[in-house]
Amino acid sequence: MNPISVLVTVTGRDRPGVTAAVFSSFAAHDVDVVDVEQVVIRDRLILGVDLELRGDPGSLRHSIDTACAALGLEREITVTEPNEAEIEAAEAAAEAEAAAEAAADVEVQAAHGGPADPVARSRPKQHVIVIGNPLRPGAIAHITQRIADLGGNIESVTQLSTYPVSSLEMIVAGAEEQPLRGALVRAASDTGLDVAVERSGLARRAKRLVVLDVDSTLVQGEGIDELAKLAGVADQVREITRAAMAGELDFAQSLTSRVALFAGLPVSAVHTVRDAMKLTPGASTLVRTLKRLGYAVGLVSGGFTVMTDRFVTELDLDFSAANELEVADGTVTGRVLGPILDRAGKAAALSRFAEQFGVPLAQTVAIGDGANDIDMLRTAGLGIAFNGKAAVRESAEVTVNQPFLDAVLYVLGISRLEIEAADVEDASADGNGSANEDGGEDGEGGQEMVTAKPGSPSDSLSASQGSASIAAR
Ligand SMILES: [Mg+2]
Repeated sequence: MNPISVLVTVTGRDRPGVTAAVFSSFAAHDVDVVDVEQVVIRDRLILGVDLELRGDPGSLRHSIDTACAALGLEREITVTEPNEAEIEAAEAAAEAEAAAEAAADVEVQAAHGGPADPVARSRPKQHVIVIGNPLRPGAIAHITQRIADLGGNIESVTQLSTYPVSSLEMIVAGAEEQPLRGALVRAASDTGLDVAVERSGLARRAKRLVVLDVDSTLVQGEGIDELAKLAGVADQVREITRAAMAGELDFAQSLTSRVALFAGLPVSAVHTVRDAMKLTPGASTLVRTLKRLGYAVGLVSGGFTVMTDRFVTELDLDFSAANELEVADGTVTGRVLGPILDRAGKAAALSRFAEQFGVPLAQTVAIGDGANDIDMLRTAGLGIAFNGKAAVRESAEVTVNQPFLDAVLYVLGISRLEIEAADVEDASADGNGSANEDGGEDGEGGQEMVTAKPGSPSDSLSASQGSASIAAR
């Protein structure tokens, strides 16, 4: 059955809980949210929702009518589908069931339909970013209801993206930051969506430096495990890696013992692994967009410079730090040169790069997945766990559990339209007439837009002597 397009426009007096009530009226129906916009002008709400419905439009219409009548809201519902007669028949059939559902909705709405508290409205505003694939109305209703429960009023809703994931940005007034964050972290885990809460203000828009972990963040998989396969020591290395990333083993010790297993490996084998590494879907889009917006972007990795340098060149990154494998006569010696970049070292590297680029830590963003990223995520102004291990998810302010790295852009409030508009500008500036798109559809897209600097950084770029090097620019 082809989905039916339904445009719902709701207007009326705004108060906490209105958005939740409207989305609750969708929740019993098989609909996807295609687009949402909400604005509030002088206490008057205008909410537009574009839905794709699989099922009976009459039943959906009835739910919306009932919810809006209970709230004293006006609504307009435009259904675009081929056969009006079918709808009318279905309307009659579903009426009894829809009435029961709508009655349940009204009870929820009544509890949250009171007038807005003027004191609450003077509290700082929060940005709430919701990311899902897809975004189901039931989940949105759940999240917006938690906001209403805390006295929060949703002043605006903007759709940030519809692919490769759907994301919304809501501006919420009247709720305290910490309780809101706590409630929405639980709501995120209940609904399977990613939810980020950030305080409004200049600091949110003033992020200027982004640090990415490499293995299982910028790139798919763990480079050291791939190297171990080539070296025939996969089982030993996998077990040490697992224990280290789960926080059961000290990272420095585990790295030393893993690297020792590589003694005697020709450096060409390391290059083979490096050349086979694949970017995470959306990685090129993320980096390209951030750099265009003037962010300093770089890597801090517990892996090896000989591998990470490839991405510094290909993505035209501003800085990087990683561990340096000692090589003698074209052969890996089994030792690491200089101090090991471990969990504390990664946080220190972030601080050092922030200082070198003149960016206060509050204006930095760190993205990582492993236990050795935890200190770095905590040190950054905004720490994002990207498909993180449990310990990392628990300690990060924001979790992104979508398989696309560019979903991070939505957390930063950058919309898909802004990304695409900038790509089009770049394409016309380059005269190649086509915008690049890796869009999460494959991990290697976008490379044609990445301009490699002349002269790749040498393998000596490293964090040795405790001062990670900066790729020459
Ligand atoms: Mg990692």
